[in-house]
Amino acid sequence: MAKKKSKKTTTKPQVKKAPTKEDESLVTFNISKQKNFSEWFTKIVQIAELADMRYGVKGFLVYQPWSTIAIKRMFDLYEQELEEFGHNPVIFPSVIPESNFQVEADHVEGFAPEVFWISSAGSTGMLEERLALRPTSETAMYPLYSLWIRSWRDLPLKLYQSGKVWRYEGKSTRPFLRGREFIWIESHNVFTTMEEAEAQTREDMQISINVMHDRFGIPFIQFQRPEWDKFAGAVHTYAADTLMPDGRFLQLPSTHLLGDNFSKAFGINYMDDEGVSHPAYQTCYGPAISRIFGGMIAVHGDDSGLIFPFEVAPVQVVIVPILAKKQATKVKNYAEELRMLVKAMGYRVQIDASDKRPGDKYYYWEMKGVPIRLEVGRREAKEDQITIFRRDNREKTIISKTELEATIKKVGADLNESIKERAQEFFDSRLASAETLNELVEHIKSRKMVKIPWCSIDLDGENCAEEIKDQLAGAEVRGIDVQETKIPSKDEKCFICGNQAKCFVYVGKQY
Ligand SMILES: [Zn+2]
Repeated sequence: MAKKKSKKTTTKPQVKKAPTKEDESLVTFNISKQKNFSEWFTKIVQIAELADMRYGVKGFLVYQPWSTIAIKRMFDLYEQELEEFGHNPVIFPSVIPESNFQVEADHVEGFAPEVFWISSAGSTGMLEERLALRPTSETAMYPLYSLWIRSWRDLPLKLYQSGKVWRYEGKSTRPFLRGREFIWIESHNVFTTMEEAEAQTREDMQISINVMHDRFGIPFIQFQRPEWDKFAGAVHTYAADTLMPDGRFLQLPSTHLLGDNFSKAFGINYMDDEGVSHPAYQTCYGPAISRIFGGMIAVHGDDSGLIFPFEVAPVQVVIVPILAKKQATKVKNYAEELRMLVKAMGYRVQIDASDKRPGDKYYYWEMKGVPIRLEVGRREAKEDQITIFRRDNREKTIISKTELEATIKKVGADLNESIKERAQEFFDSRLASAETLNELVEHIKSRKMVKIPWCSIDLDGENCAEEIKDQLAGAEVRGIDVQETKIPSKDEKCFICGNQAKCFVYVGKQY
C-alpha cells in the first residue's frame, strides 16, 4: 500500500461553477469545538441535518435521516449485546393508568413533577382514569410481571424494550442531549436473590463498556450515585458520566438496584421449591440512545464537523468521482463499479454524483462525518487505483483496486481505535484531584471533573453537597467511581464539614 501525503492526486476540475448559498455555508463550517462548544453543537445539528428544530413543541425533536440511520445502528448494536446477555425483547404500551403509576411511593414522588398526563379523549371528554405517558416503564411492566412470575422456575426474567419516553423537563432543552421526549432502551430484570440482582447491575455496567466505550468510542466513569441523587425507588443507582468538550459532564446510562422495593409494592413474588412465597429482587437499566448519540457526536467531532465511528456512520464510504471533460464516462463507470464492490462487501456506500466541485464535495462529506472517502479520477480509472481518504486524520493513500476490501476494513478499524484514544486522552486531561477547597474551586473554574475526599454519600452528606452547589455555581457531587480502590487517609477531611473523609467522590458541572 503506497502512502502519500498528497495534494497532487486530485485532477483539477475544469468547469468552475459559482457555489450556491448552501455550498458556501458548508464549505465554511469551521468552528472551534473546544472554544465554542455550544455554538459548534447547535450549528452541526443544523448544517449536518441531524435534527430539525422547527416542530414547534419545546423539547420535541424531528430526527432527520442522517441521525436516524446512525441511531438505528446504535439500537442494533445495543440490542444485540443485551440479547447476548440473555435479555429478550418486549413491547409495552406507552400509557400507564394512574392507579398503577401511584403504587410505589418513592417512585411517584420522584417522577410526578415530570409526567405528561392524558386526561381527555375524543368527544366524550374526560377519561375515567388519567393515563400517564410513560416517563419510564416500571409501573407499566411490573403489574404484568406479578402475573407472569409464579415460581423460582420463572426466574431470572430479563426483558427489555426499545421505545420512547416522555418527561416534562423544566430545564432548558438541547437537541439529543436533553429533551422532553427521548428514545431509549430499558431493561427490567427479576431474580430470586439480592446477590443476583447486584450481579446484574455489574453486568449492565459491563454492557455499557462493551457498547458505549468499545463500539461507540465514548469515554466515561461509572459512579455509584449518592443517596440523594439515586433513581426514585432504587436501593442504589450506578450511572456513567462522560465529559463534553467544555468539560461539563453528561449523564449516560444508569442501572438501578431496586432490591425488593417494587416487587413488594407490585406483588412480584415467587414460590421457592418448598412452596414458600418470597418477594423477588429487581434491577433496571436505561441507555438513552438519543442522548448517547448527542454525546457521541460531541465527543468525536472536530472543527470541520462530525466524525462517526465506522460501524455507526449513516454512510461509511462515499465515492467522489472527479470528472474532467475527457473520459468522464470512464470515471463514472469506474465509480459505479467501486460502489457495487463496496456494497457487496456489506458497507453503506454512496456516490456523490452532484455537480459540485470536488473540493466542495470533500468539505461536505467531511462535515457530515463519513469515515472513508474514495476519490476517483482519470488516473485512478486508468490504472485501477483508488485514492482513499480517512476522515479523522485526513490521511490520503493510493491503493490498487485489489486492496480495496482489506483497506476499508483496516481503515475503519484504525479510525475507530484512534478516535477512541483521542476521546479518552481528552477525557483524562479534564480529570483532576484537589486537596483543598481552593484547589477544588480553581479546577471547577477551569471546567474539570475533580476528585475530592468526602464525608459520606449517605443522606448525611447531602448538606455538604448542597453547600458545594452554592459555593461552586452549581457543581454537583457525582458519586464514587465504582473502580475506586483507594480510601482516604486519616488526615483527609471533607472540605465542607471537616469530618473524617470516608470516600472519594467526583465533583463537576452539568452540561
Ligand atoms: Zn461533609
